[in-house]
Amino acid sequence: MSDINYDKLFSTAATERLGTMGARRGLGGVGGPQVKFSFEGGMPDPSTFPMEGIADATRRALRKDPLALNYGSIMGFDGMRDQVIEMEKIFGGHVPSRDNIMITSGASQALHLAYGALINAGDTIILESESYIAQQVKMYNPKVETVSIDAGGPSIAGLRQKLDELKAKGVHPKFFYTITGFHNPLGITFSRERCEQLLALAYEYDFLILEDDPYSRIRFSGEDVPSLYSLDAGGRHVLRMGTVSKILGAGMRIGWVMAEPEMLRGLQQFKQDGGTNPFAQRVAAEYWREHLWSHIGEVTASYKNKRDTMMAALNEYCKDFAKWNTPEGGIFLWVDLNKDVDDKKLQQYSEQEGVAYRPGSAFSSNGGGKGHLRLAYSFQDPDTITEGIKRLGRAMAAAAD
Ligand code: PMP
Repeated sequence: MSDINYDKLFSTAATERLGTMGARRGLGGVGGPQVKFSFEGGMPDPSTFPMEGIADATRRALRKDPLALNYGSIMGFDGMRDQVIEMEKIFGGHVPSRDNIMITSGASQALHLAYGALINAGDTIILESESYIAQQVKMYNPKVETVSIDAGGPSIAGLRQKLDELKAKGVHPKFFYTITGFHNPLGITFSRERCEQLLALAYEYDFLILEDDPYSRIRFSGEDVPSLYSLDAGGRHVLRMGTVSKILGAGMRIGWVMAEPEMLRGLQQFKQDGGTNPFAQRVAAEYWREHLWSHIGEVTASYKNKRDTMMAALNEYCKDFAKWNTPEGGIFLWVDLNKDVDDKKLQQYSEQEGVAYRPGSAFSSNGGGKGHLRLAYSFQDPDTITEGIKRLGRAMAAAAD
């Protein structure tokens, strides 16, 4: 039998990723078997999944509509898109209609459709210095420009300067990607003022904003901030993405992208999947018709409790080695290690303690990220959070020696 060398088959993009992210992101999902205290991936809490409610909704959906088991339309099931509209109405301002919403396999697919439709190798995109898409977007080979970000959002002066520099070189960026509500990885929320300034820049320099929003409904305190999409009265400068993953169940694999029909047509060129899971769309829509807001309330209460537990544990066990922010919602917080804590040693000692987190470098769009880590408090139960942070504190102490 002859042998076939897979390494020779992989594309350059796959080979590069296998050497970095890919090797870690193997078949096993979040954390290996030795990880008992996983604060790594943004995994929702299984105890928030409304199993009985979903079972009832499934029965109702199947009785109502045999199309649940057929191929679906590329834009998605009307009932699901209507639920998305219901959710978007709370912002006021510009509300999408069905024609503005395409259902996708999670926000993940929406992102990749946007990359496919917008990026040619070598095109310029702008990311915040810490960005959820810093690694994944590389497979499309864009040229990445970065802008700094503080507790209130991306630097407007920095972005303007970057746009001016690019303009002087005759470069028009394809998009600026951001998360205004409970940022991943930073856990911050932008002020309304920052959102308005961002949009004003988008109008002035005529660029597109990719607004990714899996988390803004999970708010523990503070004032709601309208989405960029709702503030964009003309509806042409923002492509907004959402998902049921963190507020219903990531296993549903349902998300959406909102934009002008003309833009969605571009994205559709990369969507050949027989329609995003028509069955799951009907079940999710059926469930949400009755329980959308009450369920989001339950999820939010659970994550607030976990946020509080993690903050208390960090204060008890880690305060001599690091600082962190207090997120007003979402599922992540961002840790700033003291200078004397060595990243590499921390990783090694944490592994020995059975603790996993995501290092800051995984989100760095300019090759930085040292001395930072992202912790997700969504997945583990409160007792496990406390024990895990106690162990992380021990690892920090050892890495600071
Ligand atoms: N965008 C961001 C910012 C996320 O945090 C995630 C999930 N971790 C996604 C997109 C993808 O979510 P989905 O499960 O909807 O594909």
